[in-house]
Amino acid sequence: MESNIQNPGIQNPSIQSLSIKNLSKTYANGTKALNNLSLDIKPGMFGLLGPNGAGKSSLMRTISTLQSADSGSIHFGDIDVLKDKNEVRKLIGYLPQDFDVYPNISASDLLNHFAVLKGLSNKSERKQVVDELLHLVNLDDMRNKAVASYSGGMKRRFGIAQALIGEPKLVIVDEPTAGLDPEEQVRFHNLLSEIGRNIVVILSTHIVTDVSDLCSDMAIICKGEKRLAGHPLALIDQLKGKVWKKIINSQQLPTYQKNFNLISHRLVLGSTAIHCFADSAPDSSFEPIEPNLEDVYFAAIKGLNQKQEA
Ligand code: ADP
Repeated sequence: MESNIQNPGIQNPSIQSLSIKNLSKTYANGTKALNNLSLDIKPGMFGLLGPNGAGKSSLMRTISTLQSADSGSIHFGDIDVLKDKNEVRKLIGYLPQDFDVYPNISASDLLNHFAVLKGLSNKSERKQVVDELLHLVNLDDMRNKAVASYSGGMKRRFGIAQALIGEPKLVIVDEPTAGLDPEEQVRFHNLLSEIGRNIVVILSTHIVTDVSDLCSDMAIICKGEKRLAGHPLALIDQLKGKVWKKIINSQQLPTYQKNFNLISHRLVLGSTAIHCFADSAPDSSFEPIEPNLEDVYFAAIKGLNQKQEA
């Protein structure tokens, strides 16, 4: 469906990168949400991966100019994001997790409303933009239906359409596939990757497959700090020869958690499969396995593989 689409918002892409340097933020209650965080985000799909509470939303809100930082800087091309907020707002599209706030408004009316808010004052131009965007996200046939009646996947695609009003150069997507069934996920992924060809798209997520399926660049953050950054395949490569697997029974798990660097454990056919991090086989009962991005992620948030750029 989406394979031949052109994004009407991107007629004249300029190559701008987002540079975040030494960003810190502590909330009034003392929570340190961002701790000296630096990231270099180039055009394309960038995965910002981290568990709940890692600081992803705090970072996204700061980039979107919705909140301030205590120290550090953010530049998007030549623009000082923390100072020139109005300039940034013209360039940003934000896709929140849901659109349940406007229950009984049709997709075309709601998009038209957002276009007015974005400053598109000419009515016929606005109609053209709305039509193009609804076509882009394959919602032409559903344009007169209330957004509230849409499926999860359709709402997410509508979200993309509204995020693209005004030709954004930077699009932020919060939890890309939350609540989508597998078929909707594939459609939504395809749509996002079309958009990510020309501009910076940041996917903020705790779901590893969102990143492994879509992103050519990524960072893992935890407790407000960067743990790892780089190309997903390069990060996987760095873990080669260091992940070991063993099947145990679940009662043994606490012992293994105590004595080994456990990356993860999961139930497999009633037994427990553990993945351990070690430079060589912990003992002969472990077998070597090819690491995947999930191993990279869990090892990083547990601090097992040291900080590195790939
Ligand atoms: P994530 O999006 O990765 O789940 P957040 O940025 O929402 O992480 O949160 C990072 C930390 O900051 C968490 O400990 C969270 O409880 C805390 N936090 C987030 N927003 C606020 C706030 N407005 N006031 C106080 N603490 C907050």
